[in-house]
Amino acid sequence: MLDACVVGAGAAGLAAACELARTGLSARVLEARGRVGGRAWTDVETLGVPIDRGCAWLHCADRNPWTPYAREQGFTVIERLPDWQRYVGRAPLSPERRARRDADWQRAERAIEAAVRAGRDVPASEVLPPDLEFRTLIDATMSWAMGVDTVDLSTADYVIYADTEINWAVREGLGAVVATAARGLDVVLECPVVGIDWGGSHVRVTTGRGTLECRAVIVTVPTTLLARATPRFSPALPSAYEEAFNGLTLGVANKVFVEVEPGALPFDGSVNLVASDTTVRTASVSVRPAGQDVMLVFFGGAYARELETTGALDVTARDVLIGVFGSDLGRKIRRTTATAWATDPWALGSYSAARPGFARCRNVLGESVADRIFFAGEAVPPKAYGAIHGAAESGVTAARRIATLLARDVAPR
Ligand SMILES: Cc1cc2nc3c(=O)[nH]c(=O)nc-3n(C[C@H](O)[C@H](O)[C@H](O)COP(=O)(O)OP(=O)(O)OC[C@H]3O[C@@H](n4cnc5c(N)ncnc54)[C@H](O)[C@@H]3O)c2cc1C
Repeated sequence: MLDACVVGAGAAGLAAACELARTGLSARVLEARGRVGGRAWTDVETLGVPIDRGCAWLHCADRNPWTPYAREQGFTVIERLPDWQRYVGRAPLSPERRARRDADWQRAERAIEAAVRAGRDVPASEVLPPDLEFRTLIDATMSWAMGVDTVDLSTADYVIYADTEINWAVREGLGAVVATAARGLDVVLECPVVGIDWGGSHVRVTTGRGTLECRAVIVTVPTTLLARATPRFSPALPSAYEEAFNGLTLGVANKVFVEVEPGALPFDGSVNLVASDTTVRTASVSVRPAGQDVMLVFFGGAYARELETTGALDVTARDVLIGVFGSDLGRKIRRTTATAWATDPWALGSYSAARPGFARCRNVLGESVADRIFFAGEAVPPKAYGAIHGAAESGVTAARRIATLLARDVAPR
């Protein structure tokens, strides 16, 4: 019998399994997909250069455990802050406009914080000052950063996230960094877990390939799937967990990578800009996002979901680039490739976003069920949700709890 099973080989599951191995426990990672990494996924095949279809930024890079790990593994961490809104369209954001925008952001954040202090976990849109000059840009930026529009953004969730605002990229791809963590681990691919029975003396984990027995299980499956009873728990979990699965949903962000003819990329080096500040149905654009010769058009929130489900991501990305750089660049587009996270069957979304009123549920997932079932993953850590550093930290925490419990069980009395 195994000491532990880990369900899911994403950032959380791999970090958990590494920690279990470090403490000398036997563990197997069961992964539904045919690859490791989950929403951390560097694709080198499609365009012949590394593109991160999922996570790309080491958020809180100055204290992100993946930063030193990436360096140890020989990856190139690009220690340069992105300056996301250097241009609006082709117009540089002037120092004066930048100052006014920053002042608006501060007012917006102060209003959200005041609502939370008053005990209100409500949609951010309900509490934003009505006279913000940059409201459209703020709404669009929230949709990219949080994966939800301000009408769906929980004030309490937004406030609790702890951001150092240090964001660094990795030249070879951040997904490749996460995938490296699988080396030496016992990972079974194409092995979806369908049931977890925790009613007996041990936990029985049922997969498409048979049943495993273990003393504890770490579940890193996205909450969107848990809300659909995938996998199914038997006996049923306490209702607080069901509430948490439903209350902690996933926002949507989708990326379109664009390859153009040699020499046709605008600017020198990496540049980030906003396509437009007059509509929320716009995109964040990166030229050479981590140094590669491609462009990235990034959509968020309801607009990203709509474009994905209507099959309009590629054509809209093309239109965005033509709108910013002109039809001459449009004629030089060679290939595009889009993500589809909302309909990805093993994710059903991009990153964690509490529904208004449900931010408190993250603490529920941080508690084990009968010291047998431990939840880990990006939905769990209140201050670092929606990102790979939080996912990894929650995996390590769960592994350490299991190590402590199992050590107590075998200790002489
Ligand atoms: C477009 C996009 C951009 C992002 N940008 C960033 C960024 O710049 N920086 C950042 O830090 N984060 C970013 N994120 C978020 C980050 O990728 C995720 O928070 C993180 O990868 C989640 O890790 P996880 O281990 O919790 O979940 P996952 O990576 O989803 O891992 C869970 C694993 O469980 C597997 N699974 C699901 N169901 C089952 C089952 N029944 N049985 C077995 N296995 C199962 C899944 O296939 C998956 O591999 C981004 C995400 C997206 C989609």
